[in-house]
Parts: sequence; structure tokens; C-alpha cells
Amino acid sequence: MSSLLVDNIGELVTNGAGEGPLGIRRNAAVLVEEGRVVWVGPSAYAPAADRRLDAGGAAVLPGFVDSHAHLVFAGDRAAEFAARMAGQPYTGGGIRTTVGATRAATDNELRATVRRLRGEALRQGTTTMEIKSGYGLTVADEARSLRIAAESSTETTFLGAHVVPAEYADRPDDYVSLVCGPMLAAATPYAKWVDVFCERGAFDVDHARAILACGQAAGLGVRIHANQLGPGAGVRLGVELDAASVDHCTHLSDADVDALAGTARSDGSGTRTVATLLPGAEFSTRSPYPDARRLLDAGVTVALATDCNPGSSYTSSMPFCVALAVREMRMTPAEAVWAATAGGARALRRDDIGVLTPGARADLVVLDAPSYLHLAYRPGVPLIRQVMRNGVTP
Ligand SMILES: [Zn+2]
Repeated sequence: MSSLLVDNIGELVTNGAGEGPLGIRRNAAVLVEEGRVVWVGPSAYAPAADRRLDAGGAAVLPGFVDSHAHLVFAGDRAAEFAARMAGQPYTGGGIRTTVGATRAATDNELRATVRRLRGEALRQGTTTMEIKSGYGLTVADEARSLRIAAESSTETTFLGAHVVPAEYADRPDDYVSLVCGPMLAAATPYAKWVDVFCERGAFDVDHARAILACGQAAGLGVRIHANQLGPGAGVRLGVELDAASVDHCTHLSDADVDALAGTARSDGSGTRTVATLLPGAEFSTRSPYPDARRLLDAGVTVALATDCNPGSSYTSSMPFCVALAVREMRMTPAEAVWAATAGGARALRRDDIGVLTPGARADLVVLDAPSYLHLAYRPGVPLIRQVMRNGVTP
């Protein structure tokens, strides 16, 4: 059994026991065996190991957990972005453009895009990345999207209810029946989660409830895109169905915040339904950001994710989202880093990632910086010196 000691860590973010909300330890070391953290403590007292990685006094933190990404697609929508920056509003209608390109692509073209974006995210410190379908919208295209997604992640999400495809535009009930029937059946072998884009112009709350309930009955966990473009009942539906996460949360009523806060865990460690904020989407659509402070002050567990997709947020960078959350959403750097690591893990109902404590997966990043603060303090700078996943450098 080969062991690895990462030592001489100036500032270690554990998200466990330690100083402050990030469980910080100074002059620390982490011992890794068989892909797991087995010991965390002062560098000076570190046990012997077969190999050693000297962090050189830099900061080390858990790998980022990006719990919301749409990587299986073809084409890009740079022209739509340019038009939006010239004043056109975002409506979500451009999703159909990507659906056409995705259906026309070969498996290998889709696979190459997923691998390129997954690799890009990994180099920026993302060690876990959820991947959704949702640009196929036929039984065969949704199944192959998930089959390809499952090659790169165990966190795969069936989003057949992304939009109603053009061929069903005047009969959405029939499309919902297709999603709940043969499409779900074809998707389930490759999916862990079911998701719906619950929004005006996509799926209303009754359709969303029907689809999520079918997915749940098939053994999938629930997540939902809700309250992105305007107010609505999506967040409360997510809470009603014990969703792991409600995502976007840009337009919330007091009742929505109360519903999320009402899912508090009995041990006081936050809420069961996480609010996942996706500031890359507001950045890329020039829209008002969600009110993170209101959620945090109400005791809601907040996660940050990229929403990486070719239309409304074509970034794979969690450090960018951390910087946006701090500058634009009034999260403290500690809150943002927690949300991008442990928060993302909660949004995926995982306790083996997003933390660096004994028993956790050895997924970590070494920064080219003395402190996690630099992730927000030095935006746009490549600060990820080294990434380790399952105890090995990918
Ligand atoms: Zn999304």
C-alpha cells in the first residue's frame, strides 16, 4: 500500500475541525492512502510515507465540487452572446439552437466536447463535476447524452425536460408523457438525478412536478432549475419533493426562503435542500445576481456552481464563480469557498468530497498562493498549481 504525504501546507482548508467556518489549519500536512485522506495534522508531526509532496507553504483546499453543468452539446452560441451584450434580453429560447446542433453531432464529437470541458475544469481545480443531458430531447439523444456523460462523471442528471422541443411546441402534454415514459426508461441506466427547467417558456410547475415524481419513482434523486428568470413555485416544489438542490434562486419570495430554511437538519449543519447559485449565468446574461446574503442569513445551505453551458454561462471556472460571489453577491471569501467545495458536495448529497478530513476522498488543490483569499482577491489569475483526484495527479 503506497502512501503519500502532502506537507508544508501553509494554510489548509479542511471544511472540518479547525479555525473558522473553513476549518483552517496552519503549517499542516495530509496523509493519503489508497485515494483517501487518512490523517490530517501539524506538518512537524506528520507520519512517514512512501512519497512526499512539498506544498512549499502554499494553501491547499478540497477540490471544487461543481454540482451544475451542461457539457453534452455541440456548437456554440457566441453570436447570441454578442447580441445580448448589445442589448437583447435572455429568454432561454436559444437552447433549441443547441438542440439542433447536438442531434446532428456524432457520439465522438459530443464525447470530445465533454472531455475537453471536463479537462478544462479539472485544470481549474474541479475534482467533481455533475453533468446533465438536455440538448438531445429525443429518447435516443437523451440516452446517448447520458451514456457519454457517465464516461466522465458518476454525477449524471437526466434533463429531458430542459425545454419543449420544437416538434412538440403545440402539444407539451405529449412531450411530458414522452419524458416520463420511454425517455426516462432509456435514461435511468445512466443517470443518478432527474432535473427540470421550471420556468416560464420551459415547464410549468404541474409538468415539473409530474416529471420529477416519475424520476423519483424510478430511483433518481431530484434537483430543479427554479426561479431564474422570474418568480414562481419551482423552489417550493423542490422543497416539497426533498430535492437535493434548487438551482439558480435568483427571484425568491419570503415564502421561498422560509421553505428552504424549513429543511434545516436536526444536527444544525445546514439545510437538506441546498440553494445552488450560478453567478456565471447572471454575469453572461447581464442580469441581477441572486441575493446570497438573504439565504445565508436565513440559515439556508448555499452552493456555488458554474452552470457551464454554451448559451447562458460558458465558463468552467469555479474560481471565477467564487470571485463573482464575493464581489457581486456579498458572500465573504470563506462563505464562497465553502459553497464551492462542501456546499457543492451537499448539493450532491455527498459527504466524502468537499472536505479534507480522515475518510474523505483525497481530492485537493494546491494553490499558487498563500491563502484561499487569493481566489477572490486575484480574479482571473490561474492560481491552481496542482490538482489531485483520488490521491493521484490526473
Ligand atoms: Zn442549468
